[in-house]
Amino acid sequence: MTEKANIIVIGTGGTIAGQGKAANNTSAYECSVRGIGDILSTIPHACALANLRTEQLLQNGSENFSNEHLLAIGKRVSTLLAQHDVDGAVIAHGTDTIEETAYFLHLTLKSSKPVVVVGSMRPPSAMSSDAALNLYDAIAVAAHPSSVGLGTLVFANDEIHTARDVAKSSSFKIEAFRSPYGPLGYVIEGQPRYYRHPSRAHTLATPWSIETLGPLPQVDIVYAYGALEPEAVSAITARAQGLIYAGTGNGNVAAHLIEPLRDAVRRGVHVVRASRTGSGIVLRNGAQPDDAYGWLTVEDQIPSKARILLMLALTQARDLQALQAVFERY
Ligand code: ASP
Repeated sequence: MTEKANIIVIGTGGTIAGQGKAANNTSAYECSVRGIGDILSTIPHACALANLRTEQLLQNGSENFSNEHLLAIGKRVSTLLAQHDVDGAVIAHGTDTIEETAYFLHLTLKSSKPVVVVGSMRPPSAMSSDAALNLYDAIAVAAHPSSVGLGTLVFANDEIHTARDVAKSSSFKIEAFRSPYGPLGYVIEGQPRYYRHPSRAHTLATPWSIETLGPLPQVDIVYAYGALEPEAVSAITARAQGLIYAGTGNGNVAAHLIEPLRDAVRRGVHVVRASRTGSGIVLRNGAQPDDAYGWLTVEDQIPSKARILLMLALTQARDLQALQAVFERY
């Protein structure tokens, strides 16, 4: 019989740690109130999958997570993964910003050990809650040798997603997580099955190490619409080092907003054209003459992921070409 993996299960809050007044409270409940040890004790079957240890790192809804929270989670996970008696980590996390934390870890952890970020759309107290099974399956993924070297994964609703692609795409449904190119695989009866691997560089193959990262540069996101005032764009770019412009369609910019965005570039702000559509490629020099304006473009990264990527990129490069290359590589 092969030895069981040693998995650390880290609690950070979220719906998976929530509690409703009654079983029919599937969407109205108190978030981040139950400890990770307490939640885990409701799924004794998980002990058959791995040797489990728990740690309560935070107890907070993920909508509150700042850059400092990301750094704190990353640094702690990195320390734990460096321990020879830890084979992988599961992070129980709120679902609202799970895609950001997971992508940040995917790009900055320097380990090939599996890291699985998991949440739930219904608290453990609700009817047909997804909390227990998601956590059980996430442990199965983290403990399985086939998950080694795949970077940070997000588990939800039977599906294993790569942190690079996954996004929350429903405000309330159990089937809330979507990767534009599909999940990497599934879990059935506690067994992961993979059908594809991440194709973009991550973890050991990126230039960013969580160990050496200090405070992250300020990068903000603007959500575009026709009536957006130039003053709003100028106000948000006044303090930012980078701006993700979540344009309409293929990263389109309304005529009256071109000058405020060019002005931001003249003040040293790195402006990135992205799309508010939620998927698809933004074509460089397509809808706008990016080279002439000194603007960057995402490749297919949605605005929340582009913010993470630009923050990291700005810790090492300011040169336009080097920054643009990052969007094509990660
Ligand atoms: N507000 C919660 C959070 O992100 C929602 C959830 O976990 O589903 O922490």
